[in-house]
Amino acid sequence: MTATSAPPSRNRFALQPDVPLCQTDLPLDWYQDELRPYAEEYLALPDRRAETIFRWLDGYVLPAREHFGDALLLLAHFYMGGEIVKLVERYGGSVADSYQLALQARDNPQKKVIVESAVHFMAESIAILAHPDQAVWITNPKAGCTMELLAKDFHVLPVVDQLEERYGDGFVVVAYMNTSGRIKAIAGRTGGAVCTSSNAPAILAWAREQKKKILFVPDQHLGRNTAHRLGIAADRQLVLPSPAQGTLRLEDVPGGLEALDRAELVHWGSSCGVHTIFTPAMVRYHQEQGRRVLIHPESPLETVVLADGAGSTNYLWNEVEKAQRGERLAIGTEGHFVNNAIALGQERGVEVVHLADVPGFAQKGCGCATMSRNDPPHLAGILDLLRRGEAPDANRVLAGDVVDEITMRRDRLTEDERAQLATDARTALERMIAVTEAARR
Ligand code: SF4
Repeated sequence: MTATSAPPSRNRFALQPDVPLCQTDLPLDWYQDELRPYAEEYLALPDRRAETIFRWLDGYVLPAREHFGDALLLLAHFYMGGEIVKLVERYGGSVADSYQLALQARDNPQKKVIVESAVHFMAESIAILAHPDQAVWITNPKAGCTMELLAKDFHVLPVVDQLEERYGDGFVVVAYMNTSGRIKAIAGRTGGAVCTSSNAPAILAWAREQKKKILFVPDQHLGRNTAHRLGIAADRQLVLPSPAQGTLRLEDVPGGLEALDRAELVHWGSSCGVHTIFTPAMVRYHQEQGRRVLIHPESPLETVVLADGAGSTNYLWNEVEKAQRGERLAIGTEGHFVNNAIALGQERGVEVVHLADVPGFAQKGCGCATMSRNDPPHLAGILDLLRRGEAPDANRVLAGDVVDEITMRRDRLTEDERAQLATDARTALERMIAVTEAARR
């Protein structure tokens, strides 16, 4: 067990009963058939004030908590928009960053029914590390990640096959947490590991010690930022073209096979649209206004190097918690997270603004649309259906599942295939945990 994965012991998010929740209603046809009755009730509520929503949610969440008792664990990611973090925390759940979230089932074996209000790659990671008698459920299987969508196994495997053919066992895959279990299994099979934004430097440093070529999947920006921090020269790195351009042949990489042979670190060509909006000009603008700029490393390197600090959501949140009264911060990351950080700052007399909040820039801090697909009706519905023993199979999360975010169909492996995949993916996740905990000692 790791001390770091213990659920937060106190509420982090301010709840004001008479303030409306910041949650855009989803259209009714976005809900699974089984969840539509809950969505209809929710949409018919007279308003979106927190106390109205809680009164309605209590009718479903409290009986489920009573029914499952201490076996129930509610989880949400720091990034979840629309206040779902506040709802999960109000009902005794845990809100954490990717690293802490992945460990929640593994480190809490008394929890048997784990309900995650976040994206499916996170729920799958929790399931891969879970004990056999724990079941992981996701409130909305459509909650995904656009960065991960461009790093599916059918994109990555053909490239890995070519790399294996060229370099034998002379290369490893490091998979960011924002990948499916199938990609994490490739990392495990090649002797690599998983990483999160908080431990990427420690994991990449460990991978370099293997003296092998590293394929970093999928976020080129996190890869480049981490390489910069570790002092890896730009000419020892190679960014692959976007997989949206079609199946890649190694001889077509920028600079050709010569550049590939020279590269110590090869970055997959995907990125997060939410974080790539941040520019050096935004950093300079806020610094000129007297603000300290903090940014998430999924943002472009050229922007991150100018910021005053960079790190995971946990880092960003802690910086707001530690800031002195009167301090002024600009934070570059997902918009819902920054909204929660703004509220925290207001409580503490710290000014927090979104990094993209600059004159003449229309987008002003966008939130992640795919993550925001978790909302009160999804939470109420799944908990009620679980209590009644009627939860849809599509919401059960098993290692190796591929979810079609349009049709909601889950492509499931056979039990034998799943066992092999879970073993390989768990190996990569456990390597991450071992390296991370060793680096902390
Ligand atoms: S914010 Fe970006 S990286 Fe995070 S889930 Fe959304 S699309 Fe993926």
